Amino acid sequence: MKLYNSATRKKEDFVPNHPDIVKMYTCGPTVYHFAHIGNLRSYIMEDVLEKYLRFAGYNVKRVMNITDVGHLTSDADEGEDKMLKGAQREHKTVMEIAKFYTDAFFSDCAKLNIKTPDVVEPATACIDEYIKIITRLMDTGYAYFAGGNVYFDTAKLERYFVFNDFNAEDLDVGVREGVEEDTNKRNKNDFVLWFTKSKFEDQALKWDSPWGVGYPGWHIECSGISMKHLGDDLDIHCGGIDNAFPHHTNEIAQSEAYLGHKWCNYWVHVLHLNTNSGKMSKSSGEFLTVSLLEEKGYDPLAYRLFCLQSHYRRSLVFSWENLDNAQVTYNKLIARIAALQPAGAGPDQAALAALREKFSAALDNDLNSSLAVTALYDVLKYKTDDDTKLAAIADFDRVLSLDLIARADKKREELKKQTVAVGQFTIVSETGEADAEVEARIQARQDAKKAKNFAEADRIRDELKAQGIEVTDIPHGVRWKRI
Ligand code: AMP
Ligand code: ZN
Repeated sequence: MKLYNSATRKKEDFVPNHPDIVKMYTCGPTVYHFAHIGNLRSYIMEDVLEKYLRFAGYNVKRVMNITDVGHLTSDADEGEDKMLKGAQREHKTVMEIAKFYTDAFFSDCAKLNIKTPDVVEPATACIDEYIKIITRLMDTGYAYFAGGNVYFDTAKLERYFVFNDFNAEDLDVGVREGVEEDTNKRNKNDFVLWFTKSKFEDQALKWDSPWGVGYPGWHIECSGISMKHLGDDLDIHCGGIDNAFPHHTNEIAQSEAYLGHKWCNYWVHVLHLNTNSGKMSKSSGEFLTVSLLEEKGYDPLAYRLFCLQSHYRRSLVFSWENLDNAQVTYNKLIARIAALQPAGAGPDQAALAALREKFSAALDNDLNSSLAVTALYDVLKYKTDDDTKLAAIADFDRVLSLDLIARADKKREELKKQTVAVGQFTIVSETGEADAEVEARIQARQDAKKAKNFAEADRIRDELKAQGIEVTDIPHGVRWKRI
């Protein structure tokens, strides 16, 4: 498999460090508010990556943090703590806010068929881990104490900017208006490892440490949690592109200074979901959540399909029109799969292998999920029996997770019930499309058959064929498609 590595800016062959396991880490949500569908784009694509690695035969251990302390309104360690702000907004405690939005996050993930990682660890559960790392960084001179906080000294590194060669303007990333610069820092990019003092209202959650009672910075959380569960190295680290700087840059700085060797081999960043008016954020504009999509009548899996249809390294524009299209595509896809009739004969293994090869080739190429969706349509067109098609679709859906088989089974059942209930003759198209004229001709053919006028019935079928419409008799009705 080839993966684009943001650290080298190249597509590289994926070779795990260990033969028996792929170690994967994902930056989890800051649980001060609902996740917006932009955040969830990142989690959907990371889910596809994890599932495809498993599909390709790897044994994966995936770890994700829950940020419930230390993430300030500016990613550059300034401003108020997001959790505290959330608690004040809702007149609740920080822990109540954390629990509520952690549950909400996993409920959204479940609706989008995003698998829960093997290990999910709240940042507040690993304080000893951060203290251990920071202690060594202090001992080895990579960290310093100033104004009540412990900072990482970026000037001690030969190369700090891993993902980009930043210029002075870029360094202002994350510093928002109204946020004063921290004069305790020796260098502009130094970052806080441990806070005991903040210019803003004091943090609700605090722990004892060698540097005083306080709380960890956001960046140290991911290094600490990853090392606690995955050890001294990491194969893949994921996150949205905004995490590359400063968050991931700082994670690498502190982890490699602590370990004394390279930490993570592949950095995978998902580009943003934007609206026409710009980047989606939790603090501005219409806040698009999974619940809002549901309230408006969309299926969360139509949103998943929308994300799969584009490559994760391209930014994606959300509009209601785009989502409408994805919903129509999803419905048609289910209708086409429902039109397949399982005979219980078992798949043709050679055909299945050929179909699977196309699907794998798409995802092996830097997780090209849109081509993988095309490979799914190729199954429907492939010259093979329906059992084989259904087996291939079930196989691909282990990665795509669009509930294709279950939804199609349900639809097929519904169609059957309708037929039985009213003793009615059912006409379905393979794509789920409705065409009154075609349906009228099919009904006329059925009437002719009923009247034992088989010559007329055949004539109508041939006439339809000449117009590019192929009809197939199925139990209780007819399935038609354009050829
Ligand atoms: P947060 O909860 O703010 O820590 O963000 C959770 C994840 O969502 C991180 O991996 C971010 O990089 C990612 N993210 C934030 N905004 C977007 C967006 N508009 N599109 C895609 N991913 C995003
Ligand atoms: Zn992180």
